[in-house]
Amino acid sequence: MSVLFNILGEKCPKCEKGKVFAEKGNIFLLRLPKMNANCSHCHHKFEKEPGYFFGSMFVSYVVAVAEMIVFFLIANLFIDSYLTIVVLIGILSIVMSTFNFRFSRMLWIYMLDGKDKNI
Ligand SMILES: [Zn+2]
Repeated sequence: MSVLFNILGEKCPKCEKGKVFAEKGNIFLLRLPKMNANCSHCHHKFEKEPGYFFGSMFVSYVVAVAEMIVFFLIANLFIDSYLTIVVLIGILSIVMSTFNFRFSRMLWIYMLDGKDKNI
């Protein structure tokens, strides 16, 4: 359970104290999240090689589709128009984009570089 809190809290996978992201980003201000190169506490390097986070795009896709399905199932109970639901899903995906970016990278880091891994 603490792993889930560390992922959501964006903590370093090795020491669980340092922050992975320097800036959370804000889609309304057109600012993307900014990662730290190294952990501020244990100096663990987050990006092992160029393209290390390429796979996190697939994780982000899965997370975004899961959000869309859950939103559709809930919205379908209250809204009759599919067009309205599709527009709302588009707005949801834009609003959640910076969260999905950070969450998918955190899942990727913890899958490949968690505390039990010796990379
Ligand atoms: Zn650390």
